[in-house]
Amino acid sequence: MILAKKDIPKALEILSKEAAVYAPSIRKIEDRTTGVIQEEKIFLPFEEGTEIILDGPNTVKPPKDLLFPNVEKMYQYKAAGEDSYIREILPEDEKKILFGIRPCDMRSIESMDKVFFTKTYVDSYYAKRRDQVTIVAIGCLQPERTCFCDSMGIDPNQAPQADVMMNVAGEPEGESYVLQAQTEKGKALLDAISSLDQQEGAEPYQGTVCSLKIRKAEDLDKKLAGMFDHPIWDKVTKGCIGCGTCTFLCPTCYCFDIDNENYGNEGCKYRCWDSCMFSDYTRMAGGANPRPTKKERLRNRYMHKLSYFNERYGETLCVGCGRCIASCPSHLDISEFIEKATAADPDAVSYTDVPAGTDRKEA
Ligand code: SF4
Ligand code: SF4
Repeated sequence: MILAKKDIPKALEILSKEAAVYAPSIRKIEDRTTGVIQEEKIFLPFEEGTEIILDGPNTVKPPKDLLFPNVEKMYQYKAAGEDSYIREILPEDEKKILFGIRPCDMRSIESMDKVFFTKTYVDSYYAKRRDQVTIVAIGCLQPERTCFCDSMGIDPNQAPQADVMMNVAGEPEGESYVLQAQTEKGKALLDAISSLDQQEGAEPYQGTVCSLKIRKAEDLDKKLAGMFDHPIWDKVTKGCIGCGTCTFLCPTCYCFDIDNENYGNEGCKYRCWDSCMFSDYTRMAGGANPRPTKKERLRNRYMHKLSYFNERYGETLCVGCGRCIASCPSHLDISEFIEKATAADPDAVSYTDVPAGTDRKEA
């Protein structure tokens, strides 16, 4: 199908009659002390008149929370004799369309699917949202200087896991998009907007490449598995302030905590995102912490992305979106780490390493 750029709002109006549509747009936030208005590009619910921004840099936050909210109630309970109950709170029945997701973020959803659907476990909360969503991906035209998805094996022009793939027709400044269904859900979506089909148009543009190219060893996952006590960890950790920004903005981070909120004899169990960069992430009830300093925490984050996930699921958990690089207040850079680890002598000896949990102070 060929869809003129000017007809995108019309297409979204048609689609929003059947489902809640989310697309990249600008949110304005006013600083309450200075009155300064800040703008950020994120996925917002589409309403008539909403300005959709499909080109330019990717969204500041990935649309991860539409499938895996940062806080969600799991069940409610009451202890009241014969009136006691425990009730599961599954997500509402609501069809959603995620319109304009980039190939890196689509690939991150594929990784989340592996976590929440495979290895004998199905997460019913994630599964219900995932089942109800139809995803339209768009070929990236303007990777930022921190984007390196093509060094991580992702084509910024293609998202084979999306229901519909959308690429600009002809040249990057072309006036229309080529939309191709890749699943049954995708075919149904294109049928719904077929009245806007221009019928003829150029071939989909496929020429985007990332400007940030990094050298990554093919077997970096296996190499890192033997570098747990390597001196590289002392160097890369310097400057980290443990703020957790990298984990909350990462499209592939999926750790969560489960807690209770009680009011008298009733309450609810909820889960919320957690961050392995926080000191209490691994602190145990008795006070011991197997990851007492930022070194152990950052090592775990990078090892999870680049080695542990490969071992369990056969792929790397970093999609090269660059968000953690762009937003880290201390300028820590996972792409630099990948290059350093690729070049490192795996047998180098650390003179500063102290076994975790011995005489290190928590930091
Ligand atoms: S964003 Fe940077 S400073 Fe903050 S926890 Fe992550 S690596 Fe550390
Ligand atoms: S680790 Fe950084 S670059 Fe990799 S997917 Fe997460 S936010 Fe993106």
